[in-house]
Amino acid sequence: MRVLITGGAGFIGSHLVDRMIRDGHSVTILDDLSTGTRDNVEIHETNPEFRAVYDTILAVDAVDELVREADVVFHLAAAVGVKYIIENPLHSMRVNVRGTENVLEAADRHRTKVVLFSTSEIYGKSPTLPFREDADRLLGPTTIHRWAYSTAKAVDEILGLAYHEERDLPVVIVRCFNTCGPRQRGRYGMVIPRFVDQAIRNEPLTVYGDGTQTRCFGSVFDVVEGVTALLDCHEAEGEIFNVGSNEEVSILQLARRIRELTGSRSEIELVPYAEAYEPGFEDMMRRVPDLRKIHEFVRYEPSRKLDDILFSVIEHRRASA
Ligand code: UDP
Repeated sequence: MRVLITGGAGFIGSHLVDRMIRDGHSVTILDDLSTGTRDNVEIHETNPEFRAVYDTILAVDAVDELVREADVVFHLAAAVGVKYIIENPLHSMRVNVRGTENVLEAADRHRTKVVLFSTSEIYGKSPTLPFREDADRLLGPTTIHRWAYSTAKAVDEILGLAYHEERDLPVVIVRCFNTCGPRQRGRYGMVIPRFVDQAIRNEPLTVYGDGTQTRCFGSVFDVVEGVTALLDCHEAEGEIFNVGSNEEVSILQLARRIRELTGSRSEIELVPYAEAYEPGFEDMMRRVPDLRKIHEFVRYEPSRKLDDILFSVIEHRRASA
């Protein structure tokens, strides 16, 4: 197949590139290198089955042309990372709403299948756990950037569903929970590479809030496997799937574990949310996916444990330090 991966130089996107190339597909990426890097796809640069276009998904004509040439589009290009979206609110909204619209409109014109990447931020701060795909969402005010991001991604999903329903466009939606692994960087907020970098430098590990908030960190390799399986599943079209892991850990436990595995002398420092992000910032105290649906459709089962993920990130961050 001819596969287009928007955001293909990003963290998850580049792992998907590896997988698609390995499966014998020809791959084009479209990436503006805002949070992605060329290093992530460097190994493919001499492969004739790989092509990189460094442009924005806001470029309507470029998007149209690339979608026309593809059999399937994995749409990952987005403004991501809690820190990034707080620092770039306008750009984030434009890319996350208009960019997705561009991709879906082009896909509709050329009848191209779309796998749309969404996020567990969709559920907001809902207290009803684990999060099921059809659950209610609970968001705070529009003045808080995190909820604006959640809203933008919800608009993407709604557009994707509408194209499926009204135009019969094959669209599959995946909601990634906290995904981690090699190539992820801490610059835009993501906690694991941040802690690992801090631990390697023996600097304080900055735990936000009191550290009792929990997350489930899934391996990027599991996520790529799940998404690849969904691509081949006709029944998945028009459906939304959680993907990730349900191994829950508190952020304080995570900091301690990273300190242990790196043999670091770092202290753990508690930083108030308002200082770390913005006044009025709200975190979700727990976030756990219900993974029954994706298991039912494609037998998805997260197979990498948190320690495996941490080892792989530590190795990668040490190599790039
Ligand atoms: N976090 C932290 N220290 C950091 C970065 C993040 O304690 O340096 C916390 C953050 O407040 C959240 C969790 O780690 O509770 C996961 O943050 P991340 O930004 O990786 O993903 P989120 O789940 O918030 O989208």
